[in-house]
Amino acid sequence: MIANNSTFALSDTKDYETMEMIQKPEIWRPDLLQLCKSYPNSTLYFDYPLSRETYFGIGGNASVYLEINQVNLLTQIAKFKTDYGLDTFILGRGSNLLVSDTGFRGIVIRLTGQLRQLTIENDLVHAAAGASQAKLAKSAARYGLSGVEFALGIPGSVGGGLIMNAGAWDSDFSQIVQNIRVVTNRGEIVDLTTEQAQFEYRKSKLDNFFCVIQAELKLAYSDSHQVTKKMKDFYQEKVQTQPFVSGNAGCMFKNPDGYSAGWLIDHCGLKGTKVGGAEISTMHANFIINHGYATSRDVFKLIEVIQLAVKDKFGIDLQLEVKLLGF
Ligand SMILES: Cc1cc2nc3c(=O)[nH]c(=O)nc-3n(C[C@H](O)[C@H](O)[C@H](O)COP(=O)(O)OP(=O)(O)OC[C@H]3O[C@@H](n4cnc5c(N)ncnc54)[C@H](O)[C@@H]3O)c2cc1C
Repeated sequence: MIANNSTFALSDTKDYETMEMIQKPEIWRPDLLQLCKSYPNSTLYFDYPLSRETYFGIGGNASVYLEINQVNLLTQIAKFKTDYGLDTFILGRGSNLLVSDTGFRGIVIRLTGQLRQLTIENDLVHAAAGASQAKLAKSAARYGLSGVEFALGIPGSVGGGLIMNAGAWDSDFSQIVQNIRVVTNRGEIVDLTTEQAQFEYRKSKLDNFFCVIQAELKLAYSDSHQVTKKMKDFYQEKVQTQPFVSGNAGCMFKNPDGYSAGWLIDHCGLKGTKVGGAEISTMHANFIINHGYATSRDVFKLIEVIQLAVKDKFGIDLQLEVKLLGF
């Protein structure tokens, strides 16, 4: 179960039946093993530590962690999870994610192989959801295509970028997407228009589907050197103003109308505030840093400290940008 609300409790929001089924692996596990065996390039782990797969470096274990490199297996898994009433979560690069210390009772799926490919045809990029945004930006620049320069400094996947409508410098995915291909919870493959995706600031309705698998992005013809320069300038500015190398999940909160969340947090005097191994970045107040030993509870407490202080001083409810898993 995933939540991204500004106010939340650590109480369990999971569906009761789903919980029941995941706790009865003898019912679904043999069939899952059998299904994955017929796709030899898939990789299946049980009780897998998600801290290895998130930028925060935080999080307990997933009941199942499955790497999938073929659409066919993905559609089968969609049907499987619906048939058995299991919970699933599609993990991109884990760069916008806080996983609970108790982990996730369900199947975490990551796209690999052909589900990470990019092909460029004239001014159109066919981008598989598992491709990295950095690779997308660099490939477009090489072909002299403008419109996605902002993405070099976003450490996520194309799928995560679409779900989040990721962006920077007044650009985002919604401005370049032509259509999106998804897999439904019944395992059907469906093409959606941008209108159906309902992109907004750092959100979309694409998470109503089981998985985003591909998008067609329309870029503008330009000069390769110019595009590369713009992309690198953006990147440089970013690494100079944001704590890029340490464990974090990017901006924790969305910017409220007319304000920068970082400015609000800074003006509450919270930079450098620590709980356990987590700290509000001294470089950019909208980032929380894991110094290597933070728990998700430490991060969560800092989230609450920030929300209370900003509400108290400015009367503003900060909304989380980062997604929560397993809370
Ligand atoms: C240092 C740093 C800088 C950042 N800078 C920016 C920035 O400038 N602008 C910005 O917008 N963001 C930024 N981010 C946040 C993050 O990189 C983006 O939101 C990114 O698009 C998330 O992609 P991901 O693949 O890591 O998604 P994840 O964190 O893995 O997942 C995020 C959500 O997307 C869903 N998801 C991922 N892939 C799929 C798929 N194929 N199908 C269905 N659902 C999927 C997940 O289930 C989850 O709900 C930054 C993060 C870091 C760590």
